Amino acid sequence: MTEAASVTLSIIVPIYNEEQVIPELYKRITDVMDEIGVSWELVCVNDGSRDRSAAMLVDLHRADPRVKLVDFSRNFGHQIAITAGLDYAEGDAVVIIDADLQDPPEVIAEMLARWREGYEVVYAVRADRQGESFFKLWTANAFYRLLRSITDVNIPLDAGDFRLMDRQVVLTMRTLRENHRFMRGLSSWVGYKQIGVEYQRAERFAGETKYPLRKMLRLTTDAITSFSYVPLRMATWFGFSLAIISLIGIAITIGLRLSGNNAFYGQATTLVAVLFLGGIQLIFLGILGEYLGRIYDEVKGRPLYIVAHSHGFERTDQPKV
Ligand code: UDP
Ligand code: MG
Repeated sequence: MTEAASVTLSIIVPIYNEEQVIPELYKRITDVMDEIGVSWELVCVNDGSRDRSAAMLVDLHRADPRVKLVDFSRNFGHQIAITAGLDYAEGDAVVIIDADLQDPPEVIAEMLARWREGYEVVYAVRADRQGESFFKLWTANAFYRLLRSITDVNIPLDAGDFRLMDRQVVLTMRTLRENHRFMRGLSSWVGYKQIGVEYQRAERFAGETKYPLRKMLRLTTDAITSFSYVPLRMATWFGFSLAIISLIGIAITIGLRLSGNNAFYGQATTLVAVLFLGGIQLIFLGILGEYLGRIYDEVKGRPLYIVAHSHGFERTDQPKV
């Protein structure tokens, strides 16, 4: 293994069709980092952008070698892009940040201060979010609370992927190779000394969100299935409750019949009961399927991502994919 290049801080940015924000992103990061005055690299992971993002990043790299590029062969998703960033980062500490400047780079100074105090993970907590729809705020709020209530992992409320990790934590994260990844969950799961810093989440600088509802739902199921068996257990609870209710129902019916009451003719009741149970069973089959599909993905053991090109990395211990 080559000696750790003298990079103190690696800033990881996942990039998917962000041509409108790249120049401003570079400017803001350079301003902030020049002020802080430590050596740094900007690890951009191009997640199969279809716009000019990749070409712009290559140009930036030529002009300033501190900008480095991992260029995926296609779109693999935000969480996988972050994973690749962690695999390639050379710094003693790493900060993960969104390209759209919703996570203000200025917070990095505070994160570094915390890191120097000895904290190994410094996650940023959204104290306030500007320019997000009511729907997004409400769903995000419900999501973090649901996740916390059904998982054993202590995932902080309202913290996204914007966080600093010590190199030791990064090396640990590299050993976790599961396919369906919820990075903020994993970064809580590994433990270490963690602390939060509050920040105001800004509006997207330009362009549109790259997280449509479909992707948000997928991230949610990945998060839940990665860290909880509660959905599977729900079938058992539901089964028990229904069995008990039907036992009571049987006792009542027998009692009524014996006392000569023929109130239950029962066609509609039968139909409703059968349809209801059929629905419940299909739902739980679907939940089983969610876990099963994920097991299948693990068994296939495909690499998490494929790198078409990379620019600017010195270390030779990179995954050979
Ligand atoms: N992103 C990515 N791959 C994707 C979707 C998004 O790398 O398939 C990146 C995107 O470029 C941005 C970050 O993930 O840097 C967060 O995306 P976005 O800001 O659109 O999400 P939101 O803030 O709306 O949740
Ligand atoms: Mg955003």
